Amino acid sequence: PHNINNPHVAILPCPGMSHLIPHLELAKRLCNFHDIQVTFFVYTTEASVAQSHYLNSQPLPESLHVYHLPSRDISPFVTDSTDVFTRTTIIIRESLPDVQSYILSSFDNKKVDDDTSDSSTSLSPVNVLVADCFVTDSFDIADKVGIPKYIFFCPAADLFPFMIYLTILDSQVQGEFVHLKEPIQIPGCKPLPPADIVEQVRNRKIEGYKWFLHHASRFPLADGILLNTSQDLESKTIKALREDPTLRQLGTPCVYPVGPLVRAPFAEDEHYMKWLNQKPHDSVIYISFGSEGILSPEQTTELAWGLELSQQRFIWVARNPVEASSSLSVGNNPDEYLPHEYQNRINGVGLVIPSWAPQVEILSHSSVGGFLSHCGWNSTLESIFHGVPMIAWPLYGEQRSNAAMLEEEIGVAVRVKVKSDNGVVGREEIAKLVRLLMEEGNEDNDHKDFHLRTRAKQLQKLMIQAVNEGGSSYNSLSEIANEWKTGCNLV
Ligand code: UDP
Repeated sequence: PHNINNPHVAILPCPGMSHLIPHLELAKRLCNFHDIQVTFFVYTTEASVAQSHYLNSQPLPESLHVYHLPSRDISPFVTDSTDVFTRTTIIIRESLPDVQSYILSSFDNKKVDDDTSDSSTSLSPVNVLVADCFVTDSFDIADKVGIPKYIFFCPAADLFPFMIYLTILDSQVQGEFVHLKEPIQIPGCKPLPPADIVEQVRNRKIEGYKWFLHHASRFPLADGILLNTSQDLESKTIKALREDPTLRQLGTPCVYPVGPLVRAPFAEDEHYMKWLNQKPHDSVIYISFGSEGILSPEQTTELAWGLELSQQRFIWVARNPVEASSSLSVGNNPDEYLPHEYQNRINGVGLVIPSWAPQVEILSHSSVGGFLSHCGWNSTLESIFHGVPMIAWPLYGEQRSNAAMLEEEIGVAVRVKVKSDNGVVGREEIAKLVRLLMEEGNEDNDHKDFHLRTRAKQLQKLMIQAVNEGGSSYNSLSEIANEWKTGCNLV
């Protein structure tokens, strides 16, 4: 399996499911379609149950070697008030020496093709490093051993020009970006309303901001950027990154749109699938807020009522409002946090999943015709890839700008309105939007101008074309794989 004539790429994501998932897809595609051997690093420090379940539930290519970085004690460096982003950065920092040891040891091994062992000793020296956008400190390791370093940027590509330009904004803007009166002008891109800016820059006083800026300022050091998007989705941003003089001058590396990297459904015989099998085509709306999204108790109640009032079929990943965890938690009982008798009342029409759902399997099911989503980029790509239109309900991260893009530019989503007095989305608003989305296409629907479903199906075709052999994203990944082969003198 480890052909020494193939380059050996080390892929280093950030901790967390929403980074692991697309990085693993990248790794699988490189192995399966482009003759690359991959070492894929995963963290065991504070890892969720969902992570090991995910890694164990799918067949991986033989040329993909998963290396579990040893668990490190980060308690001396964090307190209860440490923000999530800083915490993640510390986990990475404490694991980088192990990454370095692994890469160095790959150079000590002879180039032998050993197909009996999957330990690092069977691998040839690492030729290329592909790091997540928040793991840019690993570049120092690549420099030390003299190999090229790339970023796999897994959020929407439109965050990239913002990050490249952030060093300028940081020096020009006094005070908080969120308090700016005018949209932020990013060269070559559409103006960004301050209300939609990414979480990590909403408070410039916290340590997380400094880390975010640190990584952004290191982007120009990369030899290239792989983007989890396609020409059809973000052509304007891709053009700006390639051609805008200011972005070029700031050192934007060469970009390769290789997405959407979305995993194929596994054959899971869950009872959710059986439930879905009994429902008509495009008749069920799926509701989920990603790997970390938790609603307040009040919002959970409004959503429960909104779904019931809509009288549409639904499947809802309803997390416990007080439990901030993405683990496949045991003993999580929705009856404790949903309205009284709720699950009995919705029986047959709605289905509640307590913590972690097989999302790709659900979105790819023909009975699912809508997605109420927090607009995390992976969820967005999975929805579009399966032709499912969305209700956009952004919560954190860069989800607000994703939601704006989906509604205003891509045209596959309608965005919820949050009440200005209490920040909650009311049950009437939820019921109205769910009906609007799910009844689209019905003869007696008043909203004849509402074409989200048609647009989603159109885009689905384009997405599939892009990643299939001969498509633009497929070719982009081929191009970079060939560059790696040439760089290693392997072609
Ligand atoms: N996911 C899942 N089941 C869940 C929740 C999330 O499989 O119950 C997966 C989802 O399919 C996606 C990822 O976790 O691939 C979440 O990533 P996204 O970027 O959408 O959101 P984030 O977790 O970063 O908020």
